[in-house]
Amino acid sequence: MSLVATTCARSALRRVRLSGWKRSLSTIELDDRRKRVVVLGAGWAATSVLRGLSDKFQTVAISPRAYFVFTPLLASTSCGTLEPRTALESVRSLKPSEYFEASVQSIDFEKKEVLCLSPLQGWDPSKAFSVKYDKLVIAVGAHTQTFNIPGVREHAYFLKETKDAIKIRKRILGCFEEASLPSTSEERRRQLLHFCVVGGGPTGVEFSAELHDLIHDDLSRHYPSLIPLVSISLYDVAPRILSMFDSVLADYAANHFARQGIHVHTRRTVTRIDDGVVHLKEEGPVKCGMIVWSTGLDMTPLIKELKGVKKDHKAGRIMTDGYLHLLDSASEAEHPKVIPDVYAIGDCAVIEGDELPSTAQVASQQGAWLRRHLNRLAKYEAKAIAAPPKAQETSAETTAVDIDSKVGRGFRYHNILTLAYLGSWNAIAQRSKGHGIRGRIAWFLWRGAYMTKTISLRNKIRVPLLWLVRNPHK
Ligand SMILES: Cc1cc2nc3c(=O)[nH]c(=O)nc-3n(C[C@H](O)[C@H](O)[C@H](O)COP(=O)(O)OP(=O)(O)OC[C@H]3O[C@@H](n4cnc5c(N)ncnc54)[C@H](O)[C@@H]3O)c2cc1C
Repeated sequence: MSLVATTCARSALRRVRLSGWKRSLSTIELDDRRKRVVVLGAGWAATSVLRGLSDKFQTVAISPRAYFVFTPLLASTSCGTLEPRTALESVRSLKPSEYFEASVQSIDFEKKEVLCLSPLQGWDPSKAFSVKYDKLVIAVGAHTQTFNIPGVREHAYFLKETKDAIKIRKRILGCFEEASLPSTSEERRRQLLHFCVVGGGPTGVEFSAELHDLIHDDLSRHYPSLIPLVSISLYDVAPRILSMFDSVLADYAANHFARQGIHVHTRRTVTRIDDGVVHLKEEGPVKCGMIVWSTGLDMTPLIKELKGVKKDHKAGRIMTDGYLHLLDSASEAEHPKVIPDVYAIGDCAVIEGDELPSTAQVASQQGAWLRRHLNRLAKYEAKAIAAPPKAQETSAETTAVDIDSKVGRGFRYHNILTLAYLGSWNAIAQRSKGHGIRGRIAWFLWRGAYMTKTISLRNKIRVPLLWLVRNPHK
């Protein structure tokens, strides 16, 4: 399984890289004739900006990952329902004027330039290069939070990238294979077949559900004698799982899990992780074959080290105004002071006074709004050049915010649906507080949403086909 899975991911990466190699010749096309919008990242927020930005701009995408990851499908990918390549889309397919496979190390707001290092050059500092911008979009997402708990980075599995999903899939099958060896003791078998998930948010819940489906629908055919030894435990420090959903839906999820034999342990604090052991404050050491860790967001080094900008105290996200401009560190709620021409969206940012969930839905809506806004600004600026406004209409005091408000309203979030898969054709869906659906209908909505949201036609066809013919050993 793992060999084929790894090959799939590699071939997807190779295709992305090859096209990158050809296109890198166009680097010389970077010019000063058009205003340059530099977009940092290749995730939900960044790709929504890139998709359809006016060709009045020269767009430069910079990300150490040359492909977009459709994160809601990662849990299915890690449990073999889908192939890794179904969750990937090349950044170049969005046709930016240029793309650099590099990570931005620092931003100089005065000089309006970003300093980059590429993983393709082994992060060699002597190969650092800078890119100038007229407008900058920071959409670098976040890492998984570990709260500095010892052993998490070394022994737990994260679920953030396709390579993580491939590792998890390999480990699950490894646990079953070792447990099926004649010389494996009964105690070791039970340990190997105990799967622990830390974090009761949508990612931890969906992974537990997919794992349950994989074991009971597919692996039960290959390892029937091992199934009675299998257990899945989900731990969370909060009093209930899925805190972003209404309690009725969260309770429904917990009861559904209980019926399926997934053990939900709330009010549990992990103090340490060793190889194959979760240490809990309340219960002491718990042995297991695999620990999947999914407990919130930690900012990337770029955001942590960014100076002169306002950040929220809770998670260290960069703060923006309603037009998604970065706020200066000296900014006050009553007198906002923005950093001109710099925007921040997605998981790395938060709008001052309007805390939104860190989801793909928010990130992509912000990206789409910013793209439309930048396109309107381009038109406004073109008109202003053709017919300059009279002196009384502008003043030296005219700020970016004044111009922004002339071209449109600030960003507003519309929650379409918040969804979570619970396993065995069951899901929950919430439109707003008190308006939820659960069960089979929610499951149809869940699948429908992901089928329509996958970007390329290739994946729109491939995903439903693979859902029909799932094979964990591929
Ligand atoms: C397993 C999983 C399942 C999820 N399921 C759902 C779901 O069902 N529904 C939902 O709404 N949300 C879901 N989410 C949350 C959702 O994926 C995130 O909220 C979303 O990815 C945030 O988008 P983003 O663009 O801000 O960041 P990301 O999508 O994380 O993208 C960040 C990008 O920035 C790049 N980058 C990082 N550092 C730098 C740098 N220094 N310079 C340049 N580029 C950089 C990265 O390589 C990456 O390309 C899920 C998340 C996970 C992990």
